[in-house]
Amino acid sequence: MTRLPPLAGFVSASGVRVYRIPCRVFPHLTARVFLIMGAGPPTLVDAGSGQGRSTKEILDGIEQLNNNFDVSIKPRDIGRIILTHGHLDHFGGLADFVDLVGTNLEVALHPLDRPAVVSHDRWALGASDRLERFLVKAGLDAKERHALLQHYGQSRKATSDDDHQRREAVGRPLGMGTFGSEIELTDEMLLDGLRFIHTPGHSPGHVCVLIDDILLSGDHILPRTIPQQWPESVAPFTGLGHYLSSLDKIAGVEGITLAAGGHEPVMEDVYWRIEDIRRLQERRFVRVQDVIGRAEEPLTLNQISRRVYTKAEGFFALLALTDVGARVEYLEEHGKLTVEECDGVGRVRVA
Ligand SMILES: [Zn+2]
Ligand SMILES: [Zn+2]
Repeated sequence: MTRLPPLAGFVSASGVRVYRIPCRVFPHLTARVFLIMGAGPPTLVDAGSGQGRSTKEILDGIEQLNNNFDVSIKPRDIGRIILTHGHLDHFGGLADFVDLVGTNLEVALHPLDRPAVVSHDRWALGASDRLERFLVKAGLDAKERHALLQHYGQSRKATSDDDHQRREAVGRPLGMGTFGSEIELTDEMLLDGLRFIHTPGHSPGHVCVLIDDILLSGDHILPRTIPQQWPESVAPFTGLGHYLSSLDKIAGVEGITLAAGGHEPVMEDVYWRIEDIRRLQERRFVRVQDVIGRAEEPLTLNQISRRVYTKAEGFFALLALTDVGARVEYLEEHGKLTVEECDGVGRVRVA
């Protein structure tokens, strides 16, 4: 089992304290939630997955802060939870905190990710319908589609289905107001000294939180991983157009001295990391264009994906396909590729 990194504490330019609390969200994935003290009520940024030991590790982490840092807090004192985005590893534990804190809890999130949080099952059904249409257009036959959709379903099961009641509970509190109140986050909104920056791409309603010179970057910017890309045809407000302009948005925020994502270590130079991600993205674009340029006839997305990501199998084949789909979509929008549709299948060539 992966070992959890230690608790850590940071102080912003104006003295707001930010504590990093690691937790295991899925068997092979750790995440970090953050406790902010000194900007409004004690505030958690993200809530873990609610699965396995995730919530317990967060609660233990909060208790341990009292011993390891100059802070006095009980988990019940949490007054606000901010969700960076509506992925299960970030919001799945929300229901546990609603149970714990009740009507004193405020929940803040961006409206574009609200459906994924409030009515996750319904949202997921719509998402897999759109994914199936994408796979048809990408040129997969019924058997191949079935296999990939099963991987998609299993990935959701592995991450969300071990306790069906919990998922019901995830949907209930926001819809029925069993906690205090809901705060709708908008781009450039200020709240008790926190600044929210809407950064769509990785998810439609992804937000980064700026505390003076400290940026909590969610999954938008991570030090080691480039977030998974989906074509906008599968998930509106995702896609590389949104993702890249959301990178520009953060690059334009001056004075960030520390950035901390929802996974992986902190980043001391977020501006360098943004440059690095842009370079990696550019290389992937070149690789896709290269495969299409060298082909003797127009290629389906499935054919491109198999040539670009030669080793991707199972669930990774699905991720490879959506990555290629997002790239082709972006390049077509920018006039570099042409997609012609015949019998419901798209074929891509250089424009
Ligand atoms: Zn995510
Ligand atoms: Zn994540």
